[in-house]
Amino acid sequence: MSQSLDRRNFAKVGAFAALGWASRETAAGIPADTTACPKVIDLRPYQLMCILCRIGEGEDIGDARLAEILAAVREDPKVPLRLRCHADSVYQYQDPGSAGDSPEGELFNAKRDLDILQKLGLVPGDARPAIDLFQRLLANISTAKNVCGYETFTAETWRGCSRAQSGYYEKGHALGISAVIPPRSKEEKAAYKTTSVAEIAEAKTLRIRPHHLMCMSCFYGGRIDNLAPIQEDNLFEAIDAIQKKPDIPITLIRGTCMICPPCSHYDSKTGLCLGGRSMALRDQKKDLDVLQKLGLKYGDTLPAKNLLEQLYAKIPSTRDICGWGDGKERAPEWSVCGDPDGRKEYGKARIARLGLKG
Ligand code: SF4
Ligand code: SF4
Repeated sequence: MSQSLDRRNFAKVGAFAALGWASRETAAGIPADTTACPKVIDLRPYQLMCILCRIGEGEDIGDARLAEILAAVREDPKVPLRLRCHADSVYQYQDPGSAGDSPEGELFNAKRDLDILQKLGLVPGDARPAIDLFQRLLANISTAKNVCGYETFTAETWRGCSRAQSGYYEKGHALGISAVIPPRSKEEKAAYKTTSVAEIAEAKTLRIRPHHLMCMSCFYGGRIDNLAPIQEDNLFEAIDAIQKKPDIPITLIRGTCMICPPCSHYDSKTGLCLGGRSMALRDQKKDLDVLQKLGLKYGDTLPAKNLLEQLYAKIPSTRDICGWGDGKERAPEWSVCGDPDGRKEYGKARIARLGLKG
């Protein structure tokens, strides 16, 4: 779904219909907006830091190119940003030339960009959704000192940026991701919570993404004695619906599902998950891994109790799905959720059969 959804329309047509989930099913589970490919924005690694530095300064961004990039990121936090810089030899293919150099000189520009890429664990030409890239910057570079400039410089060539010692970057860093990309409002999340909870309570069929059956289990196992709804998602409500009606059909769907609408990571404009460090990518793999282990596909519908029996028989541990089978994290995008050896909460829910009677 590409158009935004105002609250009046949302309330009128209901969360799931409004978000196009019915049409997703008829389109073999492929959300319409996955075909819309945003244009890649090329930028220099130092410009990523400069944006944070300007935000820290607290005034207008000033620089037209930086302002343009930030506006595009705020408009669409998933817009791909590609980091291009001076690189010799095998990465020369992506060298953008010196037009984007800051006044500190070509040599300094080349080193600063490579310093930044090295700290980010990336290489020239790497592209990521903007939200991921800024989160990666925040996680890996907390200061501009010794990156954008040096307290004592060894030669004029290495004087660096005059703002490097100003503390602006550090202030921008302290403000965090919400200063770059404003978060979803509490009011919108609360409205989506109310509407989506009502949809679950009235649903004849639940629409759940495959690995969320496991997340429901982790949620249940962590709160067996104190199971209660939370504002941030609908895991409780989905469990409650199944406990009340163990044979309620569940359709396994692609992408975000009935559990997602109140979540901070849920993008109400697109219906996509914008969770950090490529959460959507990890979640897609987890969904496919669950389907493969269960011998099912998107669009399959089974009674909840039957589906859970299969889940617990064929997937004894979160290590098999959320720990990628071997518990190894090979990149930030492929982080492991919880204990790499398997979350004990899932084990508890598996033993308790998610609290289903009989
Ligand atoms: S370990 Fe897996 S199933 Fe459990 S909460 Fe994390 S992503 Fe969900
Ligand atoms: S993090 Fe993403 S997949 Fe998980 S509940 Fe939130 S929107 Fe849904």
